[in-house]
Amino acid sequence: MAKLKSSKYIFVVGGVMSSVGKGITCSAIARILQSKGYRVATIKCDMYVNIDAGTIRPTEHGEVFVGEDGIEADQDLGNYERFTDNNCTAENYITTGQVYQEVIRKERNLEYGGEDVEVVPDIPNEIIRRIKLAVRKNKADITVIEIGGTVGEYQSLLFLEAGRMMKLKYPDDVAFVLVSYLPIPKKIGEMKTKPTQYAARTLNSAGIQTDFIICRAERPLDEPRRDRLAVFCSIEKGNAISAPDLDSIYELPVVFEKEHLGDKILDKLNLKAKQNDLKEWKKLVKNIKNSKKEIKIGIVGKYFGTGNFTLADSYISVIEAIKHACWHHKRKPQLTWIDSEEYEKNPSKIKELSQYNGIIVPGGFGSRGIEGIIKAIRYVREHKIPYLGLCYGMQLATIEIARNVVGLKKANSLEIDPKTPHPVIHLNPYQKKNIQNKSYGATMRLGAYPCVLKPESLSYQAYETRKIQERHRHRYEFNDLYKDKLEKAGVRFAGICPSNNLVEIIELTNHPWFVGVQFHPEFKSRPLRPHPLFRDFIAACIKAK
Ligand code: GLN
Repeated sequence: MAKLKSSKYIFVVGGVMSSVGKGITCSAIARILQSKGYRVATIKCDMYVNIDAGTIRPTEHGEVFVGEDGIEADQDLGNYERFTDNNCTAENYITTGQVYQEVIRKERNLEYGGEDVEVVPDIPNEIIRRIKLAVRKNKADITVIEIGGTVGEYQSLLFLEAGRMMKLKYPDDVAFVLVSYLPIPKKIGEMKTKPTQYAARTLNSAGIQTDFIICRAERPLDEPRRDRLAVFCSIEKGNAISAPDLDSIYELPVVFEKEHLGDKILDKLNLKAKQNDLKEWKKLVKNIKNSKKEIKIGIVGKYFGTGNFTLADSYISVIEAIKHACWHHKRKPQLTWIDSEEYEKNPSKIKELSQYNGIIVPGGFGSRGIEGIIKAIRYVREHKIPYLGLCYGMQLATIEIARNVVGLKKANSLEIDPKTPHPVIHLNPYQKKNIQNKSYGATMRLGAYPCVLKPESLSYQAYETRKIQERHRHRYEFNDLYKDKLEKAGVRFAGICPSNNLVEIIELTNHPWFVGVQFHPEFKSRPLRPHPLFRDFIAACIKAK
């Protein structure tokens, strides 16, 4: 593909309130522009001072998404990857903390040549430098930059300032998109544009005129309101784009294309579509709509319903991976969150698990609710219900088998019981050191590691290749001292990391489909390419039914 004369940038900002789907909007725009023949990168700018999302509680801020390179990022990078199928790396994720850390590092190294270092322009300049770094790394023609938060917030100002400065320097290469919310108050019954008008003006006061407004609302945008937004927010009439609530987020590129958003954005950037190829995506949307027969999947974890985010946000990649796999089999997933602590309080309740076609135990940390999860794993093992354990779900399955099949009653992970006589899940020396030194940020086993599969395994059947690569995020590991005992109890060590010999996958030889993986396959599932393990897990669920 020939390189463009100049790189193009689309800044996406939010108005009125948060959680209106800026990340999905960026992802959908990126997908459309790809379908028109351009190489598109996506960047998330987060306002917090944290260096990355690794130290942030997912129950309040959503899932920590892990990249191939081990970056622990905001969950929006997961949306970007699912929509664009481009792998994100550290360059695609910018936080206030990273920006200040670098500016201060340069200052200490005399890299500002004796000048004083100012918040403006030195901070926005560092943001711009990072954006350009991502453009180069991704070899992008067009880069979509999502600015977290909502316009008017004090903390997003320096990122807006970076956008303003870029527009000034490259007027033909920068476009702005405001994603706003248009409420329909119950008593009034009509859609109100005023809050969006205020948001556009707040953006004006930061020196930015938006080019497009994505109008998130319960219902589609009508003509009078398109007119009003155009006049009051100074945009072309066709640039107020309707974005009503949808059954599936994956419909959004198709909805945007009905309004020719892709061509309008290209026009703003002085580009033309080289092709129009949204065929596969449209097929996906149709397939989702036609997947009507339900399949019941239970996700067993501890109760996490605190903070602003719900369970669905903490495990968004797991949920999306289940959906992708279900749609592949033309099934509609019916997901139930099962609070494992219920099984600790009321052990007979465990029988309810028999109503599910399959059970997943996702990743997690700490000891609360763990005994309940172990009870659940015992039930699905004994009742031959298909099981997929993800990270903690693999470790806890190992503990369950060690206790109830091998007979090591006090088997445990050192994370849960540091004094256990049978640490079937333990810490490597380098991780012991990290914990002793209280070195927590970005010190887990992170990012992609190779894994070699046993040919006779369920995993090999799924992947159809011996060597795979999957993403990790955990501190604890399987303890090789217990390998023989577990193998005799029916465990197959189906996947081993060739560089360090660590156990990455356990399976049961005497069960229809029981797989626990030390990694997080959910991060690599795509709507057009479901992850092989999730795909085969759902196939096993269908068969078991
Ligand atoms: N708590 C476990 C560990 O640190 C598992 C982590 C996870 O599930 N992501 O090893």
